[in-house]
Amino acid sequence: MGHPDKEQFLDRFLGSALGTFVGDALGEPVEGWPHRAIYSRFGLLDSMVRGEGRYTDDTQMMIGILETLIEKGGFDPAICAGKFQENFDPTRGYGRRIFGVVERIRQGIPWDQAGTDSFGNGGAMRIAPIGCFYYSDLQALKENAIMSTRITHNHPEGLAGAVAQATAVGLALQYGLSNEPIEPERFLDRITTQVTDIDKGFAESLDGIKSISRGSMIEIIEAITGRYRLSLRAIESVPAAIGAFLSTTCFKDAVVLAVNLGGDTDTIGAMAGAIAGAHYGYGQIPEAWLSALENRAKGRDYVINCVKKILL
Ligand SMILES: [Mg+2]
Repeated sequence: MGHPDKEQFLDRFLGSALGTFVGDALGEPVEGWPHRAIYSRFGLLDSMVRGEGRYTDDTQMMIGILETLIEKGGFDPAICAGKFQENFDPTRGYGRRIFGVVERIRQGIPWDQAGTDSFGNGGAMRIAPIGCFYYSDLQALKENAIMSTRITHNHPEGLAGAVAQATAVGLALQYGLSNEPIEPERFLDRITTQVTDIDKGFAESLDGIKSISRGSMIEIIEAITGRYRLSLRAIESVPAAIGAFLSTTCFKDAVVLAVNLGGDTDTIGAMAGAIAGAHYGYGQIPEAWLSALENRAKGRDYVINCVKKILL
């Protein structure tokens, strides 16, 4: 990669990949719950409900992207489609239509013909490695984010959501490395510039984040849930995840806020974790969360080793 400060870059790349993993695992037990239901059961949910943090489709597909980057030294959609199919575990909470995509890939249908017209957040949820790998070239980041999404999701909203999420990861990493403070409006404008030509409606949906002022965690949750429905639609969940990052000042708060928004909690948590991890780095992820993550065949240590191999 030829990056001047490899240690710093590795810390951020690990932060983004493991940030996806912890956000996914933290949100999974309350997936589909509205904010008020989570709050009345747990207060602010900030620990792994079942003791072990098990990941879902978000992290499993992210692993496929990591493996592709290792194998090819860059992104390759045909290789990645194969990884998605090889890794597919139907017990990981995949959307119904993904079962069909995986089956078509297994039958040998090319990567660019196997997908669906879904406007969901499935492209965005797994995109952390592309945001990190291409952070210094936003055009390459955009092209690869689009290709990686088209394997499953072809709707412009799904594509714009993935590009927005990858750009948020890439910019968060840039600002993290340069130690520059983030100006939320400028950050959002740069994301908007990347997605306007893909889906104008999506670009406009990002504006809703601009008017969310800082306040207590509960005040911010009320503001975001008042504006977005937080379903698995990319146009709702991606701006919410970016908003969770921009309205907090540390990794833990960003992810706790995201998960407690309710709705598609594993994915909103995964996306906020990816952005916050790229900015604050692996060192800021709470130890209690990391040690709770599942660590079997393709678990925590495997993800860490994948990122290290990419940067070798
Ligand atoms: Mg999931």
